[in-house]
Order: sequence, then structure tokens, then C-alpha cells
Amino acid sequence: MSRADRRIEETIMSETLFDDLYVGGKWIAAGDGERFAVADPATGGTVAMVASGTTEDAIAAVAAAAEAGPLWASAPPRARGDVLRRAYEAMIARRGEIARLIVLESGKSWADAIGEADYAAGFFRWYAEEAVRIRGQVGASPAADKQILALQEPVGVSVLVTPWNFPAAMATRKIGPALAAGCTVVLKPASDTPLTALLLADLLAQAGAPAGVVNVVPSRRSGPTVAAMLGDPRVRKLSFTGSTEVGQMLLRLASDQVLNCSMELGGNAPFLVFDDADLETAVEGALVAKMRNGGESCIAANRFLVHESIAADFGERFAERMSRLRVGPGMDPHNEVGPLINEPARAEIAALVRQSIAGGARLLTGGAELDGPGWFFAPTVLADVPPQDPILRTEIFGPVAPICTFGDEAEAIARANNTEFGLASYVFSRDVGRALRVAYRIEAGVVGINRGFVSDPAAPFGGMKQSGLGREGGAAGITEFLETKYVAVNW
Ligand code: NAD
Repeated sequence: MSRADRRIEETIMSETLFDDLYVGGKWIAAGDGERFAVADPATGGTVAMVASGTTEDAIAAVAAAAEAGPLWASAPPRARGDVLRRAYEAMIARRGEIARLIVLESGKSWADAIGEADYAAGFFRWYAEEAVRIRGQVGASPAADKQILALQEPVGVSVLVTPWNFPAAMATRKIGPALAAGCTVVLKPASDTPLTALLLADLLAQAGAPAGVVNVVPSRRSGPTVAAMLGDPRVRKLSFTGSTEVGQMLLRLASDQVLNCSMELGGNAPFLVFDDADLETAVEGALVAKMRNGGESCIAANRFLVHESIAADFGERFAERMSRLRVGPGMDPHNEVGPLINEPARAEIAALVRQSIAGGARLLTGGAELDGPGWFFAPTVLADVPPQDPILRTEIFGPVAPICTFGDEAEAIARANNTEFGLASYVFSRDVGRALRVAYRIEAGVVGINRGFVSDPAAPFGGMKQSGLGREGGAAGITEFLETKYVAVNW
């Protein structure tokens, strides 16, 4: 048994692992007793056998959320904020334990997992503060015949569906604003990573969230369980983070009940480097924008567009930095890049890279799977990628950086916008005027200027075009869980 394997075993034995459904304040097995395996991407071994919720379990969770709804909605905002504040403090106190679970089920590096634990906790802190800042409006009617009151009310029972790549942060980014607004929730975490979400349920219960306010229903049967909830008339909201493909399907389902929808979907982020950029800053920014989470991020730089006069220099320096990254299991904190989530994900990336090289791209570093166990892939840089290469139209979701060139600013913007996605983008230039001009013209919900790290609980995060609807984080995040009621008053 390797050192990493031993540490994983010790971890599982020493920490409490929640592997049942959390419904109405109780831990319960699935209605039909079924369980599914959660795998460790670094070894392929089984981390836990988790209860796989049935459609009846999901509906029971909706019923619990509906029952808890009125009391939670009318609880003092300060009391709702206090629950979130205590949950934030518990997450910080237990960040190591949370990070271990994140590493075990998602495979990311230790530094990324600790970073995620803190980032995820930050949403509870931010929305603990926002809970007491829900403001309506009083408007003058132009005819002076009444007062116009615009009140903000919680939307109601919210179904939250999250992806595997940030098992803690994608959950807290939804639970935080929902609870602050006065909504009760049913969270359906990704089947690859349910353990962190279940730990969050326990942590919120200990922080004082009443039974039924937060319910967590993992399930291997994602389609039927989510569909059943979206068809239940007690549900009023869907907040989804995941692929555009599944998001589109859920939007169609949600239309039956005209549900309020917030959608955080896929991306294909351009990373623009102009000839006046500070090259070192651009290379460091590229490393962060590409390699945070091993490239398994919706805001990962997916297309490197570099001015033709500096492309060779940029490519060489970037490839040199990429080749020095240490790849290995996240349980060893010295490793900087973990495995991909599973074998099919790795096979898809390998195929994309091979196709790209066959189509004329030049391999600067990496390019292949690494020996197992686990789903490791070498950090890869491809230069001279032709504009028609499919890799530029695909969300790579792995440690692969394709570089292509542009001649002038107009071409850079046109190529950056040549995608149906519009989530993140990055611009590197020492001329702030130019950088802002480009930022204004880029069709993306998030623009990083001279930096590769953009995530912040205080910022409104979200996508344009097919990358999504609505914003999470910041002051905007809570409005996604509030509804406006207009009251016309004679007084
Ligand atoms: P996914 O769409 O496969 O799954 C997301 C969630 O939907 C999971 O909980 C999954 O179990 C569930 N799901 C899958 N099929 C379903 C169905 N038929 N009905 C109902 N639910 C279903 O995405 P993923 O592979 O978990 O995550 C990767 C994707 O998420 C990428 O496209 C990435 O860009 C995107 N993402 C976006 C953001 C953002 O903020 N915009 C953040 C993280 C990830």
C-alpha cells in the first residue's frame, strides 16, 4: 500500500463520513436501500457507498422543505444570518477535514482543496451579512394617485443541482443566498462528489438550521429525481450549475411549472495576450487561469489567443512552467496537479489532444496520460493550433492549453467572441485603456484583466450567451432567491 493510500485509509477511519440522505433533519437510507460507490480519482478505489435517493425520497425532501418554509421565511433575517455565520466559522475551523473530503472524491490538489474550503466558507460569511440587507423600494406614481411599494419576498422551495468540480463551493454559493433570502432547499449534489455536500448538511444543522431548511439527496438516478422535484407544485425555483447540455434540458423541464431559474453553465474562456503585455505576468496568469483545479473549471482558460509577435516566446515560457508542475495524488500536499475525475473524462481529453496534433498543432509539452493508478494526464501545451481545430470549440476541462495567434485587436475580439459560450475571459495588456476597451467588447460575464484568478464571494459571477442565466455571489446572488411584490397603496 502506497503512502497516499495509507493516508486515505487513515482519513476515512478517523473522520465521520455521512453517507445517507439528509431529509427533514434526519439521516435516512434510500427508500429502496440502494447505494452507489464514490470513487477516488487518484486510485480508482472506493471511498464510500452512498445512499442513492429515489424519486420518492426526493419528493419527501421537497415536502420537508415546504413544511419548513413559512417559519424560515418569517424568521428574523438576523437569525438566518447567524446560522450562516456559525456555519462559516465551523467551515473555517474544519477546513482541513473539508479539504480532505474534497480531495478524496474529486481528486484535486491539496492546495486547490484548501482554497476551495475557504472560498466555499466565504459564501456563508458573505450571505450572513446580506441576510439583513434585503431592501425593497418606495416609488412615486407619476399620477400621484398612490404609493408604489416594491417588496422583496423569498421565492420559496428551491431545488439546487451542483457539479462535481467544486463540491463545496458550488453548494455554498447556492445555499448561502437561498437561506439568507428565507428559502428552504433540496440539494442534489453531483453523483461523483456527494460526500462534501453531506458534511455541509451536518455542519448547517449544527449551526442551527432547523429541520427541513436544508435537505441533501444524492442519487445515481439524477434525471428522474430532479425531474420529479421540478414537477412538484411546491417547488418554485431551480438553481443549477453544470453543463450547458443538461442545463438546456432542465430549462425545458422547468418551463412546465414556469419555475424561477438560475443557470450557471459551461464555458470556453478566451485568454488574450497583447504585444504590450508583461510576459511574466501573463505566464503566471495563464498558469492560474488554466491549472486551478487541474483545468477542471468552468472558468478555465480554454483558448490562448496571443499576439503573433510574442506567441513563440509566450508558448516557450508557459510550456516550461507547465512541464515543471508536479502531478500526483492530492493527499500529498507537494503535488500541484491531481488526476482527472474519471477515465472517460481522461480518454476524451487524450482524444482531443491527438486530434489536434494530427490536425497540425505543435506539442510543446505533455500530451499523454500518465501511468496509474488514477486518471492522471500530463500538463499539456499545444502551439500553432489552427482556427478550425475542434479543441477550440470544446470545453476541454483538463490540463491542456491550446495556443493560437492574432494580428490585431479587432481580430482578437472577433476570435474571442466566436463561441456560443460567454462565461469567463482574460485580457493581458499593460495599456489599461486597451484592456478596458477589450473588456467592454468581450461577450463574457466575467473578465480578468492582468490576472488569472477571478473568483470572489463578493463578486457577481455568471455567464452570458449559453453560459447561463442570473448571477451568483455578491449583492446580485441573493436577488436570485427573492421575488418582487408590488403593492399599490392609498394612504
Ligand atoms: P453535468 O451537467 O453533467 O452535471 C451537473 C449536475 O446535474 C450533477 O449534479 C448531475 O448529477 C446532474 N445531472 C446530470 N444529468 C442530469 C439530468 N439528466 N437531469 C437532472 N440532473 C442531471 O456537469 P458536471 O460534469 O457535473 O460539471 C461540469 C460542467 O459544469 C462543465 O460544463 C462546467 O463548465 C460546468 N460548471 C459551470 C460552473 C458555472 O459557474 N458556470 C461552475 C462549475 C461547473
